[in-house]
Amino acid sequence: MEKKQFQAESKRLLEMMINSIYTQKEIFLRELISNASDAIDKIYYKALTDESLVFDKDSYYIKVIADKKNRTLTIRDTGIGMTKEELENHLGVIAKSGSLAFKKENETKDGHAIIGQFGVGFYSAFMVADVVTVISKALNGDGAYKWESSGADGYTIEPCEKETVGTDVILKIKENTEEESFDEFLEEYRLRAIIKKYSDFIRYPIKMDVTGRRLKEGSDNEYEEYQEEQRINSMVPIWRKNKSELTDEDYENFYAEKHYGFDKPLAHVHINADGAVSYQAILFIPESIPFDYYTREYEKGLELYANGVLIMNKCADLLPDHFSFVKGMVDSESLSLNISREMLQHDRQLKLIAKNIASKIKSQLQSLLKNEREKYEQFYKSFGRQLKFGVYSDFGSHKDVLQDLLMFYSSKEKKLVTLDEYVARMPEEQKYIYYASGESNERLEKLPQTELVAEKGYEILYFTDDIDEFAIKMLQKYKDKEFRSVSSGDLGIEADDSQSADEAENSENKELFDYMTSLLAGKVKKVKASKRLKSHPVCLSTEGEVTIEMEKILNAMPN
Ligand code: ADP
Ligand code: MG
Repeated sequence: MEKKQFQAESKRLLEMMINSIYTQKEIFLRELISNASDAIDKIYYKALTDESLVFDKDSYYIKVIADKKNRTLTIRDTGIGMTKEELENHLGVIAKSGSLAFKKENETKDGHAIIGQFGVGFYSAFMVADVVTVISKALNGDGAYKWESSGADGYTIEPCEKETVGTDVILKIKENTEEESFDEFLEEYRLRAIIKKYSDFIRYPIKMDVTGRRLKEGSDNEYEEYQEEQRINSMVPIWRKNKSELTDEDYENFYAEKHYGFDKPLAHVHINADGAVSYQAILFIPESIPFDYYTREYEKGLELYANGVLIMNKCADLLPDHFSFVKGMVDSESLSLNISREMLQHDRQLKLIAKNIASKIKSQLQSLLKNEREKYEQFYKSFGRQLKFGVYSDFGSHKDVLQDLLMFYSSKEKKLVTLDEYVARMPEEQKYIYYASGESNERLEKLPQTELVAEKGYEILYFTDDIDEFAIKMLQKYKDKEFRSVSSGDLGIEADDSQSADEAENSENKELFDYMTSLLAGKVKKVKASKRLKSHPVCLSTEGEVTIEMEKILNAMPN
């Protein structure tokens, strides 16, 4: 029997994998199961075109067999199998792109979904096994072969016996060390949990012999253990089901099962796209704010599946920041299982999906706003601030997407209104969209500066959130109407003659005003007469872009 060396690249990669990557060892099972599933897929597709081949659903499955006594874990499939050449070529070489990605990734390794990033699925077995044996019989091959390797030093191949077509991947599970335990990968409950977590939606049954306890026959207090073959995965993912088959409760269960949040989702979007890219997605708008939402710790992102196999827990590239509150998952057949995170960022498919998702979220929010106002307001109380941040950040590049979703408290309506509603109500002669900034609606009700605008019968939007005025400055206009603070020097209301009346009053009282200015030196720039006030004797106003409220916030910011 001859011993062959791995190709140089593979060898180096394998060494690095075994020696330096210890996070998420459990992922090996996901990789081996998805290889098994791919192998069954291959027979399935062949049967579609080859009439001599019948794809009888029941005889295609994956089985995970743990043998504690011998410390082996077997992943068996009834897939297409590998010939001698395929064993050599496929298990002896690592895809070039995979190793390239690895080298890049390794400079910034952060331990997340490691294997998926490197494109070296099969090799992950060596994270938990000393020896990996593959016994395979190919559909169109010349008998069965046994491939065996104990790691970086190479592999052996020899003919062997195997009755049925398919592959057994047998892992000799490592002994526990002081730092690490490997026993868990022989435990039924643990294997079951890993399968559920990563491979629940594999299209073929993943079976295991599980131990049950039952009453002994004829006894009412004596139990016996028995072995039973069970299917562990649920096979049909909810996102592949037809929307019409699903109830709100199904979606709520999925939300809870997936631990997307402890609340109930406020709304969901189920997408089944079949165009330039095909993908399915289920997205949720949560009802309440996650406790860490407005902190740096919060991580946005959607779960990403490639053809039913989870490849990333939080794919941030799928969500714009202003929709970072959205939870859910995306499954696409257009993505490769072993795509690296770095490659993902540049992946055209993924970009298309992200764009599509963002517009679906927007329409969902718009539809809530239009048809379920109460729910929308509830949403807005939790996440409106994030939308306003969205308008403000990126130099306002998202303002077109977001401006219709904004709401502010209205002096007239005494509730939240949209900009669209405000503009629709504006009398023809009203030039600006007026707003007042302050701590609370109650305070703003009493603000002297609002008097003139209010007396004119114009509506005022109350800005009580730090970000409000900054966001509005980014918008500048809504439907061609400029925003104007009620504290601004020019409200566009005073008639020309009253302007000159001010001038006259100012020059008459010049001495008094100069004296007042000197008393308030450093606090105000100028004291002057105004026609703006009705019942209040005095108010502060600003000239230029930055209002008093903005100045307060800017001054409070750390620099
Ligand atoms: P990938 O799955 O991304 O191609 P892997 O390292 O996981 O990379 O597997 C390498 C190759 O080995 C597969 O492409 C496939 O050709 C072959 N292979 C692995 N496992 C099996 C299996 N159970 N049955 C048939 N072929 C397999
Ligand atoms: Mg693979």
